[in-house]
Amino acid sequence: MSYTDLLFDIDNTLLDFKNGSRQAFSLTFGALGLDHSDEVYAVYNRINTAIWKQFESREIDAVTLRYKRFDDTMKALGIEGIDGKTLSTNYLKNLIQTTTLYPAVEQLLTNLHSSYRLHVITNGLKEVQRARLKRLNIDHLFTSITVSDEISVAKPQTAYFDHVFDNSPFKLTKANTLVIGDSLTSDIQGGNNYGLDTCWVNHGKPNTTAIRPTYSIAEVIQVITILKK
Ligand SMILES: [Mg+2]
Repeated sequence: MSYTDLLFDIDNTLLDFKNGSRQAFSLTFGALGLDHSDEVYAVYNRINTAIWKQFESREIDAVTLRYKRFDDTMKALGIEGIDGKTLSTNYLKNLIQTTTLYPAVEQLLTNLHSSYRLHVITNGLKEVQRARLKRLNIDHLFTSITVSDEISVAKPQTAYFDHVFDNSPFKLTKANTLVIGDSLTSDIQGGNNYGLDTCWVNHGKPNTTAIRPTYSIAEVIQVITILKK
C-alpha cells in the first residue's frame, strides 16, 4: 500500500510516557512530602488506567479525568486533605519536563518527513500535548496535530477522525492513510472503525483482544519496514 499520510499517536508510541509519567509522579508527590515508591505509583497507575477507559467510553469528561485519578488515588491510599486538582496541575507541569522520545524517534520522523505527511492523533490533555512536542523540538515535523481535549471528542470515536481529516491542510484519503499507535482500544479500534489501515506498536505484548490491526510491530522505529513493502 502506498501511504501518503501517517497518523501517529504520541504517548507510548513516539514518547516514552511510561518513564516520563513515573518521574513526574515522583516529583509531584515528593514535593508534598508524600510517599512515591513503586507500590504507591502502582496504585495510581491502576486507577489512572481505569479512569482513562471511562473517559474513552465517555462515562466521564476530561475535566473530571484530571482530578478524579488523583482524588481516587488519595482515597485508596487513605490520605486526606490533599486536593486532586492541585496534584493534577503539578503533575502536568512536571510531565512537560520529564517526557522523552524513544530512541531514534527524532531521526525516524525527520526521515519520514521527506516522503510522507505526518500527523499527531492524541487523546492527551491540552496543557501538555503541544508543550511537550515543542520542548522535544519535533512539533514542526507535523502537518496537523489533533488533541482530543481541544475538540471534546476522542479516539476511537468516528467524530475524532472526522476532525483529523478536516484539520489537515491537505486532503487525506482513507486508503492512503495509516494509523500508528500503542492502544488497541483507542488507536487501532478507532482506525479500524474509520476504514483506515492500522499499525499496532505492541512493545512485545500479546494481543488478548478481538481487535485486529493491519500490522503489528514491537517498536515504532520498525514502521519503516512496513512502509518499504
Ligand atoms: Mg498511546
